[in-house]
This record gives sequence, structure tokens and C-alpha cells, in this order.
Amino acid sequence: MPQTSRFPTLFISHGAPNLVLHNTQAKLFLESYGKSLGRPKAILIASAHFETRAPAVSADAKPEMIYDFGGFEPELYKMVYPAPGSPELAERAVELLATAGLKAQPVAHRGFDHGTWVPLKLLYPDADIPVVQVAIQTQAGAAHHVDMGRALAPLRDEGVLIIGSGSLTHNLGAFFKGGYKADAAAPEWVKDFAVWVEDRVSHGALEDIIHYRERAPFARENHPSEDHFLPLPFAFGAAGEGAKGTRVHSSHEFGVLMMDAYAFQ
Ligand code: ZN
Repeated sequence: MPQTSRFPTLFISHGAPNLVLHNTQAKLFLESYGKSLGRPKAILIASAHFETRAPAVSADAKPEMIYDFGGFEPELYKMVYPAPGSPELAERAVELLATAGLKAQPVAHRGFDHGTWVPLKLLYPDADIPVVQVAIQTQAGAAHHVDMGRALAPLRDEGVLIIGSGSLTHNLGAFFKGGYKADAAAPEWVKDFAVWVEDRVSHGALEDIIHYRERAPFARENHPSEDHFLPLPFAFGAAGEGAKGTRVHSSHEFGVLMMDAYAFQ
């Protein structure tokens, strides 16, 4: 397989579902980044909104839409992302996870949640690339997600783009209580965490990312629960031994939501 078909793995902050509607910096970034990446054979994406107790992979040939949010603009509930699934890729992913000692189930009737379809609609608007979703296990922590990513890393040599979709910072309690305006400045406890992640990831310091809850400044404040951070160690792991991350986008919304994105290779 030619080298050009090997994509970096990505971590993307997907923001709120209405990211697709408003021309924020993060939206404009995703739209142009998809074009610069080129077209993979398939996409394997771990979304913060697909949570299971044990590893699972979506296996539908024609995934449906999931509107897993309330209170947003009515047009969002009519949007579709009609990309096909790939039962073959799902089977291959289950196999690779099993080889690494991670018993995963293929799951039927699991559609695209907004952690998947919102960023993909911006990255690949034609919706003609097969998409398979990998579940996260929030209770299992960062090391487990590095292991899952590492198990799936061979897919990079098969033309698959591997994405973790979460949010670099995600304290929704602070978001709702803080009364931040859309363009509010990021508070120090948010900025410090984002700076730490950028420093550690750019040095390839995977161990620090695995232990981020003890080592990063304000880790628990930025991630009261881990679901939106875990797609980052997943993407880091999927980039393979010795990988480093490059921050390919940074912006913030409503003060406390960092929309940073990383490419790992
Ligand atoms: Zn989310």
C-alpha cells in the first residue's frame, strides 16, 4: 500500500450539535481540514457519546441518525448524514481488538450520534465514505483507551482514518452556571489544562496522558467525567509506538469549551 494512504489519527473536539450551523473558527477549521486530508477508504471513529460497559463496534450497513440532544435549533433534527456503515470493517476491528485481548461485540442498530455525524458532516460533507463507530468505556480510564487505539492501529495501513471525537475541555456544570458568552475569554483553569495537553502530546508523552488525572493541572475541573477526554488517548494509541501529536486547531467557545484538535503520527 502506498505511503500516501496512511492518515494521521485525529482527536477532534466536536462541540455542541449546532457546530454545523454557525461559522465558528472550529467549524471553518473542520471544513478546510477534511479537504486537506484527502479521502480515506473508511472512517473508524470513537465518539464520547457511544458509551458501553465492554468494548463494542457498530456493525450496521446503513446506520440511522441519532438526535441525542435537546433544546437546539429545529433544523438540526432534520439533518442527515447518510454515509454507509461497513460490517466488514466492524468485523475486522472486532478481530484486531480480540488479538489484543480486548473482547469486543459487534452491535446492530447503533446509528450515528452527534459526536460522529456533526464533525463528519464538516470534514466529509459528501457522506460517501463508510463509517464505523467504536464505543468508549468511561469507567475504564485512559490506559484502556490507549490499548484499544493501539489494537486498531493496523487499520491505518489499510487506508482507514481513525478519529477520536470528544472535547479538549468539557465541564458542562461550569458551562451552564458560568453564564459565559459565546466569545468569552477562556478562564485560567481551562487554558492551563489545554497548554499542558499540547506540551505533553507534542513531546509524545503518552504516559503523562495516561495519568492525566493526576498530572495535568485542573484535570478534574475540566473533565468532571472522563467521557469527552478518552477519545484523545484512543487516537494517541492508534497512532502507534513513539507517536507525537500536533495541534492542528485551537479555539474556544463559551469560555470553558476548548475546541482543540490534534493529528497524531
Ligand atoms: Zn459531546
